[in-house]
Amino acid sequence: MSIESKRREALIYHAKPTPGKIKVVPTKKYATQRDLSLAYSPGVAEPCLEIEKDVSNVYRYTAKGNLVAVISNGTAVLGLGDIGPEASKPVMEGKGLLFKIFADIDVFDIEVDTKDVDAFIETVKNIAPTFGGINLEDIKAPEAFEIERRLKEELDIPVMHDDQHGTAIISAAALINALELTDKKVEEAKIVISGAGAAAISCTRLYKALGADPKNIVMTDSKGVIRSDRDHLSVEKKEFATSRDLHSLEDAMVNADVFVGLSMANLVTPKMLLSMAKDPIVFAMANPDPEIDYNLAIQTREDLIMATGRSDNPNQVNNVLGFPFIFRGALDVRATSINEEMKMAAVKALAALAKEPVPEQVNIAYGETRLNFGRDYIIPKPFDPRLIAKVPPAVAKAAMESGVATEPIYDWEKYEDELLE
Ligand code: NAP
Ligand code: MG
Repeated sequence: MSIESKRREALIYHAKPTPGKIKVVPTKKYATQRDLSLAYSPGVAEPCLEIEKDVSNVYRYTAKGNLVAVISNGTAVLGLGDIGPEASKPVMEGKGLLFKIFADIDVFDIEVDTKDVDAFIETVKNIAPTFGGINLEDIKAPEAFEIERRLKEELDIPVMHDDQHGTAIISAAALINALELTDKKVEEAKIVISGAGAAAISCTRLYKALGADPKNIVMTDSKGVIRSDRDHLSVEKKEFATSRDLHSLEDAMVNADVFVGLSMANLVTPKMLLSMAKDPIVFAMANPDPEIDYNLAIQTREDLIMATGRSDNPNQVNNVLGFPFIFRGALDVRATSINEEMKMAAVKALAALAKEPVPEQVNIAYGETRLNFGRDYIIPKPFDPRLIAKVPPAVAKAAMESGVATEPIYDWEKYEDELLE
């Protein structure tokens, strides 16, 4: 298909038959006058009074507990950059669609017209009573770090900035499995991170939590290797600055076991790839074009394990493997936050699922004959129906064990059955 016809297809998809991708649908009967007097005045006053007496009743009588806000100010949208709140709306609606189809979570997408950190935080805090959870989306770094940190502190519902943690969680699951397949230990792996933005910083923090040794990590940005002697480093970059005498990405790649790209297209050359250690792991996740083209990379090295952000290559690191299921688990135990333990539980559940035999319907959905744990299948596929049964319970259990669940689950079999309905 030509670029022009792809463009037209995308525009028609969004415009017809109804503009946009989501709508609101009533969940109660509304056929008779009696129904309406329950739905609205005078019947509606009864739940209002119950909630006024005890605010936790809001979960009992309203849609709050299954409603997530996908909130953006449009400052870092996909690879498109700062395109403004209105232009970010298709993305936020799209996220709403994914929450719904993968985890049956309802979403209101909220586009906020401010770049000011305090004003943005104030807006989110003021509308939080409506929601069971907050998914922050496509907000530029470094503002995104402070916005998420402060909202987590100040709100008692789960808050997650998906651009940071989604990618971190999925790529960490892929990393566990890639290291296992190549007989490498995370504690010893030499890791190069290209990029120091929202995604790269959060991924690197999570790899550290998995056991990666900061001494073995080198991070680069648009100015080269982030060294401790560089001026004007942000707090986040300082956290990963190296004192080693390395200057360029090319220097850093020599003998590296792992390359993680969250930066820009085509920064990695075949020569750099050839300089990496045996069985190199390359997660080139810049979108839409990776740091090195998939075909070029696998032609350059046979011993490679490669992942990208693209659906047309094996091992797609796709956030949709994470956010619907993480929020599902968090909402179902009415967690007061999404903490490190819950994220790590999602990582482990995703990594473990990739090692299970793949059901036939997944092979069919992807036009594959036999997906099998190995170099070309290190993470589950988004249309795997087992995700909904495996990831939310793991997240919910971690919430309970880490003390942030306010409505614990006791009957796990029943819960899994409900998830599959
Ligand atoms: P971001 O906050 O804008 O960060 C981009 C980073 O790339 C910055 O640190 C920037 O350096 C660095 N960079 C730019 N040119 C570079 C170069 N020539 N060499 C090395 N680093 C360079 O963006 P983000 O949200 O973290 O996303 C980064 C990339 O990852 C995007 O392509 C995005 O699409 C992709 N991504 C993919 C996935 C996925 O596959 N699941 C998920 C999230 C993000 P400075 O700090 O010096 O400006
Ligand atoms: Mg995003």
